[in-house]
Amino acid sequence: MKYTLRTKLSFLFVILALVSVSLISILTNFFLEKQFKEYITKNLKKSTKEIVTSIGQQYSEGGQWNYRMLESIGVNALENGFIIRVRSLSGKTEWDANVHNNGMCQRIIEQMSHNMSKRYPEMKGGYKEETHPVYSNDKKVGTVDIGYYGPFFLNDNDLAFINTLNKLLIGVGIFSLLFALVLGGIIAKRISTPLTRVTNTAQMIAKGYFGDRITEKSNTKEICQLTCSINDLAHTLEMQEALRKRLTGDVAHELRTPLATLQSHMEAMMDGIWEPSPERLKSCHEEIIRINRMVGDLEKLARFEGENLVLNKSDFDVAELAQRIIHNFERDYIDKGVKLDFYGEEEMLYADRDKISQVIVNLLSNALKFTPAEESVELEVKSSGEWVEIGVKDSGAGISDEDLPHIFERFYRADKSRNRLTGGAGIGLTITKSIVDAHEGKIEVKSKLNEGSEFRVFIPKQVE
Ligand code: ADP
Repeated sequence: MKYTLRTKLSFLFVILALVSVSLISILTNFFLEKQFKEYITKNLKKSTKEIVTSIGQQYSEGGQWNYRMLESIGVNALENGFIIRVRSLSGKTEWDANVHNNGMCQRIIEQMSHNMSKRYPEMKGGYKEETHPVYSNDKKVGTVDIGYYGPFFLNDNDLAFINTLNKLLIGVGIFSLLFALVLGGIIAKRISTPLTRVTNTAQMIAKGYFGDRITEKSNTKEICQLTCSINDLAHTLEMQEALRKRLTGDVAHELRTPLATLQSHMEAMMDGIWEPSPERLKSCHEEIIRINRMVGDLEKLARFEGENLVLNKSDFDVAELAQRIIHNFERDYIDKGVKLDFYGEEEMLYADRDKISQVIVNLLSNALKFTPAEESVELEVKSSGEWVEIGVKDSGAGISDEDLPHIFERFYRADKSRNRLTGGAGIGLTITKSIVDAHEGKIEVKSKLNEGSEFRVFIPKQVE
């Protein structure tokens, strides 16, 4: 049986509140009870002492028993739960509560016994009598027997106090439970709502709807991270999906034109409409070359983007390599009328020479593609701290701000129509980045539309 997070959290809160309230009640009751018993016992002793003292005092005032005073003390004591009997030294009873009001004495003992058995049913108490000597001016003048319900007793006020306290504890308990239930419910809802959204979004993603995003804000760090991760995942998948669609579209489009041309030319020749002249065969051959180049690009991409791009490292001078590449490119640049300058001196690097060469070739061929005649391209090789820096700067077409973050993605072409004419499939920079990453380097680009672009590649000098 599976429960929702909300039910579980609410349940947990209630259990927690229940346990803590019960624990607090039990402990409070235990300690309070102990303190209260001590307090009552102390009070009892104090009261008996007071009774004895006041009896001694009334004797001192007149030098003999004052029966009116004795009665007032005795009645007062009776009201407080003490049954007293005063005797002179000879043993003669001077005043006796039982004689004065036997009915009341019985009632008081019964009342105390009732109170005590209600409060402490397990306690075995009963009527108890203590005899205390009475002194008047340090001279013993008689004794007083004080009877009460022992070992201690609670009068109505004490009992009312304890009951109020218990009611208060029960009230606090109920209030805490309700509070925990409401608060638990609110907190559980705040935690579970974004999680439910995450689940729903993840399910939508699983079904292929990558456009869904979680917009709920949460101030719980983990939930925020989770929603951000799901949103990032959805974004990445959306991009990948778009890329996949574009790739399929691009490949189909790129292949369709040469294949259609080939098909029509072949059919025309097979039907005898066209003579298979060398020119026509050459045109067919060119189409096949285009198809081949496309397939080659795809292959190259698969190779360079593979998980384990194997690097064949050696020590070489990057500046020398750059100059060689420039040499190969010179003709193309001159033909297009673009100026190509090189800056740099010997710069030794321990890296994969062929792959670094591929990086420079890709950057230079892009610069040539996107730079019009009369403009210029600069290639620079220099040392920059721990890195060897290779920079290619052109004053060509530039890249718009919205295209800039995507140019390293597979098959991304900023201007699709123009690029199709220039023949690029949008994988040159993807391969470049894969090579740089494999060398644990980095690539940076700065570009402004219609002003030019600058690519800077950083390869660490000391990569083993
Ligand atoms: P492509 O084969 O289309 O050149 P790349 O991966 O090399 O593919 O480049 C991706 C896109 O980045 C290009 O289509 C182009 O829009 C843009 N780009 C790359 N280099 C430059 C540059 N030097 N100037 C302007 N745009 C560039």
